[in-house]
Amino acid sequence: MEVMVYSENEKLFKELVSAAIHLNASKVTAAVIGTNEDAEKAAKLTDKVLFVEASQVGEYRPKEYAEALFQIVKASDPQVLLIGGTHKGNAIAAMLSVMLGEPSVTEVSDLKITEEGLMVLRSAFGGVAVAEVRVGRKLFTKVASPKVACLKPGFFPPAEEEKNGSVEKVSVDIKSTAEVLEVKEKEKGVGLEDADIVVVAGRGVKKKEDLSLVEELAKALGGVMGVTRPLSADLHWMPVWVGMSGIAVKPKLYVGVGVSGQIQHVAGIRNSKVIVAINIDQNAPIFEHADYGIVGDLYQVVPKLVEMLKT
Ligand SMILES: Cc1cc2nc3c(=O)[nH]c(=O)nc-3n(C[C@H](O)[C@H](O)[C@H](O)COP(=O)(O)OP(=O)(O)OC[C@H]3O[C@@H](n4cnc5c(N)ncnc54)[C@H](O)[C@@H]3O)c2cc1C
Repeated sequence: MEVMVYSENEKLFKELVSAAIHLNASKVTAAVIGTNEDAEKAAKLTDKVLFVEASQVGEYRPKEYAEALFQIVKASDPQVLLIGGTHKGNAIAAMLSVMLGEPSVTEVSDLKITEEGLMVLRSAFGGVAVAEVRVGRKLFTKVASPKVACLKPGFFPPAEEEKNGSVEKVSVDIKSTAEVLEVKEKEKGVGLEDADIVVVAGRGVKKKEDLSLVEELAKALGGVMGVTRPLSADLHWMPVWVGMSGIAVKPKLYVGVGVSGQIQHVAGIRNSKVIVAINIDQNAPIFEHADYGIVGDLYQVVPKLVEMLKT
């Protein structure tokens, strides 16, 4: 069975190779849209590299990248196509699956081949459940198109560079329908992703100026402050938010200040080691997820905590 792997992210690419080996692939083929150097790197990890020069595809746009990948897939005959589940990877996979006429599945954390075909485990309901899903019809039917699965980062160990695969250039003819006029770097969170201590302000904070209270607590703890989505997306108090649709955090200590603990927020903090919640409402859902809870008014509790931490 041939498994093809594609990711623009180098670390995730190595994890995809491990996942392909885990599937007992007899041949692991890399799809590369990049430079000669990228193709050579991929050859150290796989049996074969099918390589399209990035200059032939142009600036990143999902449709054009999906089209290039489609042409790479057609140059080979993989039964499974594993794509790195980044924002770009997920967007490309969705379009590619339409071109292939096969379903694609995202948020995959594990996968196996059974009599039924490709079976995957994927997050469901914002990460509170795991669903087992069969991807499309049986693998080895007359249908030549591969099953497409987007793997989440961090679930397979990065493969070692122990191959010396062949590199084959694929020439593609991409008819672009969009022109990129400007590329703006996305505003980054202030190191939230990698912070050991994260203190998040929620709508319990009444005014933008009052964020300084929470910021002080974050500083006193040696951590970084974030906010919930309403404070960012609705009130524009900060450029990014913590949660399922924002930044997922995995600190040693998370403190939620005036955060109710809705599922979309909790999905982005569930990998925190210790969760502390400060909320005036003892029935707030955040307490169900918290290791420690303080029921109280944040305007009284937070200054006291800061004072205690400073002494
Ligand atoms: C598709 C989708 C994606 C979403 N993604 C995200 C996401 O990634 N991240 C995210 O955060 N949200 C997300 N949301 C929004 C989410 O559903 C909630 O609306 C949001 O998390 C609530 O934010 P909050 O806890 O700050 O506000 P609220 O739910 O309004 O909670 C405020 C809390 O503050 C408490 N409080 C009030 N006054 C005080 C006080 N003086 N002292 C102490 N506590 C007090 C209240 O008891 C309450 O529990 C998403 C929603 C959708 C539909």
